[in-house]
Amino acid sequence: MSNAVFADSPAKGLICRNCGATYGLVAQHACWQCFGPLEVDYDAAELAKVTRERIEAGPQNLWRYAPLLPVGVHAEDRVSLNPGLTPLVDAKHLAEALGMRRVWVKDDSANPTHSFKDRVVSTAVSAAVKLGFDQFACASTGNLANSVAAHAARAGIPSTVFVPHDLEPGKIVQTAVYGGRLVAVQGSYDDVNRLCSELTETDEFENTAFVNVNIRPYYAEGSKTLGYEVAEQLGWRLPEQVVVPMASGELLTKIHKAFEESAEIGLTEPGKVRVFGAQSTGCSPIADAFAEGTDEITPVKPTGIAKSLNIGDPAAGPYAIEACRSTGGGMAKVDDDEIREGIRLLAATTGIFAETAGGVVVATLRKLLESGQLDPEAETVIYNTGDGLKTLDAVSSLVGPTHTVKPSLKSARESGLFES
Ligand SMILES: *Cc1c(COP(=O)(O)O)cnc(C)c1O
Ligand SMILES: [Zn+2]
Repeated sequence: MSNAVFADSPAKGLICRNCGATYGLVAQHACWQCFGPLEVDYDAAELAKVTRERIEAGPQNLWRYAPLLPVGVHAEDRVSLNPGLTPLVDAKHLAEALGMRRVWVKDDSANPTHSFKDRVVSTAVSAAVKLGFDQFACASTGNLANSVAAHAARAGIPSTVFVPHDLEPGKIVQTAVYGGRLVAVQGSYDDVNRLCSELTETDEFENTAFVNVNIRPYYAEGSKTLGYEVAEQLGWRLPEQVVVPMASGELLTKIHKAFEESAEIGLTEPGKVRVFGAQSTGCSPIADAFAEGTDEITPVKPTGIAKSLNIGDPAAGPYAIEACRSTGGGMAKVDDDEIREGIRLLAATTGIFAETAGGVVVATLRKLLESGQLDPEAETVIYNTGDGLKTLDAVSSLVGPTHTVKPSLKSARESGLFES
């Protein structure tokens, strides 16, 4: 039942997250028996062979973790912009501003298309080529569109990217410039996603890998590298607390999985990482379910400026809730003004300009500290997943020149510039 093209990877099949039914390494994302989501199942003995030394000897990007991914270790098989090994920034002034002992920002805006999505896309499209697909596509809230179009351009493979019509202009331009097909759908992300599911069933899209739909199990695994990388950058230690933004909830779930896996296979000492999830009040189906003590997600119609997180019917929501509950973590949601303040605080204390999703994380960090859920003394990592240049509109009305002067000393003096 194993697929020979994956023979050089530790993946042995797909497994249903719900009922445990197993499948081969094929292009399938839902269980035939219970419709539950499938994820990649690994050969535990193969994973256990992976050592720190082997990873450290690998390339200076996410492929150093290839021995832990369902892609294979041969570089020539990969379709990738080679993202990863982004900075882990020791955020002293942010910690000071919030009364915390130690906080780091994992800055994934430093990836080639300026969001963490390059990780999941590199993993997905590399698997897609092995599975025999010759076209790429996705349903996107913005960043995924950027990354799929760019990966397709690099590989010389046609792409069709589907987005809600009301995305930020920066994300539309940054997708269209790569030259593939860009379909603006007059509906929400959840409508886009439904349309893409239907398209995967058509003859015309038979050879198309929709990275987060029909090959979703492979896509999701790319997020694990954001867990491994933080552990490695901390000197093969686990942080005590993390704050992660949630759209579908997949990223949070896989960061948690990576922490557990890295302890299991001995890359790090065992340790419990308290996992916290962040959403905006405009779209908080996961945080609301968590607050109500259930794992039944009630879908919502998203609004608000954190568009990259606007998934109203989040597929991995229940698993994200489980990850936060089982680790003694939590969730919170923040409104658009708090998000804008979060963006400004992060920029002013770290030099990192985050997109709205990063603002959600910083504002949530603050809220969780105020409510006493997050321990200010514990070592904390927060994830910035995208670049502020993609969502300039969010803060453009709040910031601008502090002084305007004529090009003369006299004018400079009169403007108040000489007063501190
Ligand atoms: C997609 C995205 C996320 C979250 O992704 P999920 O895995 O769907 O929860 C977080 N931040 C940014 C900037 C994103 O684009
Ligand atoms: Zn099942």
